[in-house]
Amino acid sequence: MYKQRQIFFIFSIIICNLIGCKSLVAQENSNVFDKIVIDAGHGGNKPGAIGSKYKEKDVTLAVAIKLGKLINENLKSVKVYYTRVIDQDIDLYKRSSIANKLNADLFLSIHCNSATTKAASGTETYAMGLGKTDRNLEVAKKENAEILTENNAIQNYEGFDMNSPETDILMSLYQNAYLNNSLDFAAKVQSQYQKNVPFKNRGVHQANFVVLWKAAMPAVLTEIGFISNPTEEEYIGSEYGQWVIASCIFRAICEYRNKVDNLNDPIPEINQLIPKDVQNKEQMKKELLAQQIEETSTQSAENKTEEDENKIKEQQIKEDSIQNIQKSGAEIIYRIQFMSSPTKLPQNDGRFSGLEDIFAYQDKEVWKYTAGMFATQKEALDYQKKVKEKYADAFVVAFHNGKRITIAEAGRLQKK
Ligand SMILES: [Zn+2]
Repeated sequence: MYKQRQIFFIFSIIICNLIGCKSLVAQENSNVFDKIVIDAGHGGNKPGAIGSKYKEKDVTLAVAIKLGKLINENLKSVKVYYTRVIDQDIDLYKRSSIANKLNADLFLSIHCNSATTKAASGTETYAMGLGKTDRNLEVAKKENAEILTENNAIQNYEGFDMNSPETDILMSLYQNAYLNNSLDFAAKVQSQYQKNVPFKNRGVHQANFVVLWKAAMPAVLTEIGFISNPTEEEYIGSEYGQWVIASCIFRAICEYRNKVDNLNDPIPEINQLIPKDVQNKEQMKKELLAQQIEETSTQSAENKTEEDENKIKEQQIKEDSIQNIQKSGAEIIYRIQFMSSPTKLPQNDGRFSGLEDIFAYQDKEVWKYTAGMFATQKEALDYQKKVKEKYADAFVVAFHNGKRITIAEAGRLQKK
């Protein structure tokens, strides 16, 4: 009988492995990944960072709710708990203690970054650890600052001092047991952001966050973008942007679960996760924007063509007048000389504007410029007055057969 039982037992294990009872076995295993606590940063009278349109507490809650929905709908074996589902102030220490009481497998705190400069941008995810750079410390200090306004902070945080190295060590020790898994999950989150969110990937970092401190499970804090950066604020404040970010975190959770539970469950693509109506609206928005850009660029192209055509026409007129002058080279022609230059200037040079029949001739190494073209000296003198408004030293010059001659010579030739 004993032998029979033993054979049955071995046989059961073989069958189980063959037909994939693994998840059934795993479900009885208390170590399996099946509980997550999602923590929407800030809340109530602690708004967190404030952008020009949105507040951190509202953005984090919106993303938290969307993420929870994705897990409930697509990862039914994982139970979702929230630290808050309304605009409510919750002390930082209570947030991880909720996760501890539930014996959760992952604690995720969602936040928005902010900086004094609008240019600061990107996503980053933190696990507990000594803040190695000033920048990491700065982020942690900002997120930890809430305890200063909490009641009984001294008892709840046991003399926690943000500036003391002892606190640093104490804080990081608490999370050390889960550090590898926390860093692994954080890397998966960042990798998803990098592929799907149009912001810079600032990477995975370590710093001491009070909210993660006593979490007795892998715990990360993700900064989904800068609310102080107008472009990122627009994105993280939008339905579409929030769905993309929630989908990224969801996919990272799936990857992490597959890894820790040694599973190979399929992971839905981002566009399978974002609600169709949200995607359609975004598509319409993009098309409208593209159309507007196209209209603007076509308009400016049309304007440009008109402008260019005018320039070409102007140039043509000038060239024609030069040709006319050359053609009429056999006669005496009076012009108004107004400037000279060591190099030949283009016909559209700004200095010629407002003047007619620009003609250039070379005298030794110097180019000399004239305006107007007249058969009599009297007409030339009239036009000289106009040129003098711009060039006070302008004077009348004469040409015979295209060659510069003196005014006296021109007068003599004309008398003949
Ligand atoms: Zn925050």
